[in-house]
Amino acid sequence: MREGKPTPEAVPMEETADPITAALNELHASLASDSSGTLASYIPQLAEVDPGQFGLALATLDGRRYQAGDAAVPFTLQSVSKPFVYALALADLGLEEVLSRVGAEPSGEAFNAISLEPGSGRPSNPMVNAGAILTTSLVRGDGPAARFERIRELLSAFAGRPLDMDEKVFASELETGDRNRALAYLMRNAGSLRCDVDEAIDVYFRQCALLATAADVAVMAATLANGGINPCTKATVVSQSIAEHVLAVMASCGMYDYAGEWLLRVGLPAKSGVSGGLVAVSPGQFGIGLFSPPLDARGNSVRAVAASRVLAERFQLHLMHHPGRSAPVIAHAGSAVTTRSGRLRRRKERDVLHAHGGDIDLRSLQGDIEFAAAEVILQSLSAVPAARPGSARWLVLDVQGISRLHPVAARMLDAAVLELGTRGIVVVVGDGHRRGLLPHATVELPSPEEALEWCEDALLDRHGALLAPAAELPLRDHDVLAALDDEARAVLSAAVSPYTYQREERVLASDDEVLLLILSGRLAAYTQGATARRLGSMGPGTAVTRLQPLDDGRAQPMLVAELPGEGGLLRRAQLERLEREHPRVLARLWRLLASSREVGCWPVAAPAWGSRR
Ligand code: GLN
Repeated sequence: MREGKPTPEAVPMEETADPITAALNELHASLASDSSGTLASYIPQLAEVDPGQFGLALATLDGRRYQAGDAAVPFTLQSVSKPFVYALALADLGLEEVLSRVGAEPSGEAFNAISLEPGSGRPSNPMVNAGAILTTSLVRGDGPAARFERIRELLSAFAGRPLDMDEKVFASELETGDRNRALAYLMRNAGSLRCDVDEAIDVYFRQCALLATAADVAVMAATLANGGINPCTKATVVSQSIAEHVLAVMASCGMYDYAGEWLLRVGLPAKSGVSGGLVAVSPGQFGIGLFSPPLDARGNSVRAVAASRVLAERFQLHLMHHPGRSAPVIAHAGSAVTTRSGRLRRRKERDVLHAHGGDIDLRSLQGDIEFAAAEVILQSLSAVPAARPGSARWLVLDVQGISRLHPVAARMLDAAVLELGTRGIVVVVGDGHRRGLLPHATVELPSPEEALEWCEDALLDRHGALLAPAAELPLRDHDVLAALDDEARAVLSAAVSPYTYQREERVLASDDEVLLLILSGRLAAYTQGATARRLGSMGPGTAVTRLQPLDDGRAQPMLVAELPGEGGLLRRAQLERLEREHPRVLARLWRLLASSREVGCWPVAAPAWGSRR
């Protein structure tokens, strides 16, 4: 360590604690004085521990950890190991096979009860001792040592670090664990346990003696909360469906004969152990690890249960809690009458869009879309009118704002898209990142703006109002010249010079180039910089100018030819000549360009659809 630098320990904790750590510290302080409960003594080694120990830890799905008190003190996992070994049995044998050997019904009895199905001897669930002993016996492996090694490896993967075994606690339980041995004999006698009793018990006691800290347990819990992926190591420890199944059994059976009231009050999948550990999971949110040895009459840690109740209430973690409504899934619904793309249009085109834009519907979707949200979208899409026979209608689906589309929702939306197709509606999806999101969409384009431009072009084409980019407009028919009087038209026609651009060429990049009357092809405007964003585009009959640079300190937008074409260019020298010789013509021209009703000239003041992001 370098000299002169304060060590982390030198900084008082209160001063540096973030709000979550502060909440854990506060919880620790408020419960530390509760010394009720007793240490488990049937495993003599467990009665030796300091009953004052109390650790709390929380691990997020981004792999961040928060902790308070004795969160770094190792303890033997005991029954906290059970859900994780159950995960291994599920991975080895599959749900059906495991279920046929161990049930999933809460026993409502103590952890060490003889809760076996009459006749078959099938234990009621994997969270009580009988079920756990049997689950452990299901783990694949060539002999007990290999089976235990696989268990140790899996639990270590859950924790994100290698876990060791406490030999003394193991030996202690091996010596006194006759009740568990008796349970195993009963199951062996009934035919449910199919291996040697001593072997089964040995592996089970070893798994119970694995050492972990509250911080480790929080990461193990977070791995379950994260669908089986350890948020710290990023390793896939178990599949998502196994994580779900394990959580379900923890929720119904994890707290022995307190399971029902636990679900009522705390509402989280959890598992406790006789050494005072407790693992609790907030699915999709985070994992909690708690440790405090004194136990209540049901064998659950007094402080850990109390802390869980406070945490669940304070952070509103109850599984059945209604999170409240999120932002509307349809951010925008409209038609091309009022919502236009970023394409600068000539007057004639705008008139047609105004009259017939109702044939293009728009829906911008946003947020996390699961079943219920998809149902809302389906409802909205069913309101889109069918196309008239021999005619067409369009629907632009802007999916860029979707943060997550659940597979069920994706299937529902795609079925709706297919149905729209049967009603003659052309569905155009705009999103460059998620190609193939809706396989039945008619057209996919890189952005919602381009999707809308595409539909506008199709609508204009149908009404004979589209100037095809390749068809060159005669200069005198350009909107700007057509709107001027004869004298001004003649003066301006003489002042502009022919200008050609190739695809992807930068246009109007020099200060010398003042005004371009576009006659064919297409230009697009982009923001400059690393994340260039397409602001909009301009086609034949419109104009672009560099007269009013948007000089507010931001980089100027840049113009790039999207399609090759030609235009009439007014250069600065010609402009200066007009200023001297034809000031009246110039004044008329500027008035015209400033009126967005008369001609389409860029930059324009009116914000287009595409500029809202
Ligand atoms: N090893 C302990 C036993 O089998 C585990 C029980 C528990 O933690 N509840 O008795």
